[in-house]
Amino acid sequence: MANHKKISDARKDFPLLDQMVNGKPLVYLDNAATMQKPHEVIDTVTEVYTKYNSNIHRGTHHLSNVCTEAFEEARIKIQKFINAGYSHEIIFTRGTTESVNLVANTFGDAFLKEGDEVIISELEHHSNIVPWQLLRERKGIELKVIPITEEGELNMEVFHSLLSDRTALVAIAHVSNALGTINPIKEIISAAHAKDIPVLIDGAQAVHHFPVDVTELDCDFYAFSGHKLYGPTGIGVLYGKEKWLNKMPPWQGGGEMIKSVTFEKTTFNELPFKFEAGTPHYAGAIGLGKAIDYLTSYQWDEIINFEKELLDYATEKLLSVDGLKIYGTAKNKSSVISFLVDGIHPYDMGVMLDKMGIAVRTGHHCAQPVMDKFGIPGTVRASFAIYNTKEDIDKLVEGVIKIKSIF
Ligand code: PMP
Repeated sequence: MANHKKISDARKDFPLLDQMVNGKPLVYLDNAATMQKPHEVIDTVTEVYTKYNSNIHRGTHHLSNVCTEAFEEARIKIQKFINAGYSHEIIFTRGTTESVNLVANTFGDAFLKEGDEVIISELEHHSNIVPWQLLRERKGIELKVIPITEEGELNMEVFHSLLSDRTALVAIAHVSNALGTINPIKEIISAAHAKDIPVLIDGAQAVHHFPVDVTELDCDFYAFSGHKLYGPTGIGVLYGKEKWLNKMPPWQGGGEMIKSVTFEKTTFNELPFKFEAGTPHYAGAIGLGKAIDYLTSYQWDEIINFEKELLDYATEKLLSVDGLKIYGTAKNKSSVISFLVDGIHPYDMGVMLDKMGIAVRTGHHCAQPVMDKFGIPGTVRASFAIYNTKEDIDKLVEGVIKIKSIF
């Protein structure tokens, strides 16, 4: 059996965590916004720039070949990580946002027409709402929104009733960043496919919490970001089924995405390069490959159980605070807790926690419709990663109690 690392040893791999903030040891609980990076990822990116930085593809010289090989190896690691059928189904983008925009601008512009409907949900991140609204402006499509329940779960009855002959695409988050809800995407994909409707999944909050198998899910597109996966910023992934990617027109034009260019006519490169115009963020891609090596050096069961333990512990402790309400109480939840304390604005809570060295996110979390649903301005959000501890949660709860006593 492979030798897996122990999660209890993870914290020491993250150099940033070992620092004082406002005179207190940092407690980093803003992981849903971005994760910290292990040494191995930082060292890998440094190694690219110190040892073999060179523009990739078409190079005849040594450095270019080394860099190209490392970049394409990263693509294969990602393919295996999400169990895609082919490495050319992995398109490097800047992140989830760019991946969704790519689909809206290519699939959307080429295949959707006036009156067609795209189904999204009330818990989407703005990056899975606005690109479809922009498409609505361009093409006259309609948006249909699956409402959420008081617990923050999708109303699946309404979802099923929204599927119709006019539905051209379903675009849904795997996990809500604001509430932590894990959506029943398998059921969504099967129901949509039964009517030949393709499905895009926004996996920004999923891929680092549990294994994702795009072949088993059978989704048509799956988007995620490197920086939420213990990897570098500025790099992300769009997985797309070959059958769609081949049919879709390119999005951005430039170098790398062409086969030949004359002023009369340009022919486009094959997959995946057709969608990777310009010099890609190869250092980021190589770093992302290393982040995947790092994450998969732990056992998924251990990650899932560990994060569940932190979630349960934090939920229980926070709920013991008088006047504290948790938003997002779905049965199936990832390690994200959104909450409010009676009479305390989330922004004030965030600023005061920061004075204690505790980093949480406050506000609408780029999910304003979720806040509107609950009639609140925003929440305080604590989100956990493999390097967090129960002591981090104790400090958060102590901080919340202290702030409450001041108000
Ligand atoms: N979708 C979800 C569910 C997210 O949590 C985020 C990031 N907060 C995004 C999309 C956008 O990701 P990025 O900013 O990395 O493009």
